Amino acid sequence: MELIFEKGAKGRGLSILPKNELAPVDFGCHSREKELNLPQMSENELSRHYTQLAKRSRGVNDGFYPLGSCTMKYNPKINESIAGLAGFSKIHPMQSQHTTQGCLKVLKKAEEALCEITGMDGMTFQPAAGAHGEFTGLLLIKAYHLSRGNVGRKKIIVPDSAHGTNPASAVMAGFEVVNIPSTKEGIVDLDALRDAVGEDTAGLMLTNPNTVGIFDKNILEITDIVHEAGGLNYYDGANLNAIMGQVRPGDMGFDVIHLNLHKTFATPHGGGGPGSGPVGCKAFLAEFLPGCQVAGEEELYFEKPKHSVGKVKAFYGNFLVVVKALAYILNLGCDGIAEASQNAVLNANYMAKKLMNLYDIAFEGNWMHEFVMSLEELKKKTGVSAMDIAKGLLDYGIHPPTMYFPLIVHEALMVEPTETESRETLDRAIEVFEKLYDQAQKEPEKLHNAPVSTPVGRPDEVKAARHPILRYSFE
Ligand SMILES: *Cc1c(COP(=O)(O)O)cnc(C)c1O
Repeated sequence: MELIFEKGAKGRGLSILPKNELAPVDFGCHSREKELNLPQMSENELSRHYTQLAKRSRGVNDGFYPLGSCTMKYNPKINESIAGLAGFSKIHPMQSQHTTQGCLKVLKKAEEALCEITGMDGMTFQPAAGAHGEFTGLLLIKAYHLSRGNVGRKKIIVPDSAHGTNPASAVMAGFEVVNIPSTKEGIVDLDALRDAVGEDTAGLMLTNPNTVGIFDKNILEITDIVHEAGGLNYYDGANLNAIMGQVRPGDMGFDVIHLNLHKTFATPHGGGGPGSGPVGCKAFLAEFLPGCQVAGEEELYFEKPKHSVGKVKAFYGNFLVVVKALAYILNLGCDGIAEASQNAVLNANYMAKKLMNLYDIAFEGNWMHEFVMSLEELKKKTGVSAMDIAKGLLDYGIHPPTMYFPLIVHEALMVEPTETESRETLDRAIEVFEKLYDQAQKEPEKLHNAPVSTPVGRPDEVKAARHPILRYSFE
């Protein structure tokens, strides 16, 4: 497809902006030497260009999209409409607080609702993503230990089934990471945890459900072991839609949590827009939260907590993502929130059970909102890899699952159907997986070339990595 710079012709254009009637300003030596090379095309050429681009991409509106570890993918339209209201979208962060009382109320209500859902007492909306939230939460843990004179608590324990951002965030926050293995069931090895804790333990970071989609049945024992050793418990709640309305991390012994509003609460992950990774904590940690907490009863205002770790982002975080989350929560209500997680878990288990005769499912157990298939055996027998099956799905109009993640499962495909898919959609996807399995036995070479019906077939990944073309050359 031609790029926008290759379309149109010199002098062609569209007139959206009024004519500039001001005299040109001379910037002297800072002036541009050459004309700026901008595309010049008519309105209909431009419109066609973007329509063509849109047709070449695949999104949740095109069909089933079981990408794992991204949780909700369909965002009800009403949330966007509400976030688009001028009173939310046209405000300025420097505006005086008495003119933005409604927005402060949104932050306050969102804090109350999400604290209720997670069992926490305070929350900050400053962090802009999940990993950013992890970093912020770890700063709270660090500040807590230092405030008590515990300078030796430098280690964060991270099970190997944790999300990859967990150890990275711990290092960023200045901790040492202690990795502990999982058991055969894919959950935390309690003996390894007991051996790992000690006087130098700052805390544990637990991704739950973990990256193989399993809820750790020993969760209360795990948090007790860490507390008894003097550490704090951090809950990676990026995938909260498996448990929201069912159980609360705050009731399971966790002191700090982050959420991904852009995964669970009305902003799809990877939607191309801003994210929000709020951090919730128990009351004893609230004095360390980053700047600008909403306070007050009648007249609301921003307040810096007494021993704040400082700001982690400019202003108040990505406010409109919070508006969408609150709209989603209020729209669903208590029952709706619980129902959404039940359906997410039911849909994943329905698919896993239907597919387990053909495909190996990693770690049998209580799958939650997603499950991981291992295609290691299939690859040994037929040569067809996880990549081949994922690409094959595209020819049937299905977006591939997450591939080769988590790393502890070989030839992994991580499938997350989500709560919004109907039984018919799931049945059709199951049928496609069955067909591909069959094809892997009978004509494996065809699958090595899939997809054949998409605008781009199989890109040369090695070339893309070794010789990437990152700039457009006008010559
Ligand atoms: C997605 C995810 C993260 C990271 O969130 P980002 O917003 O992408 O930084 C952390 N933990 C888990 C379990 C996740 O699924």
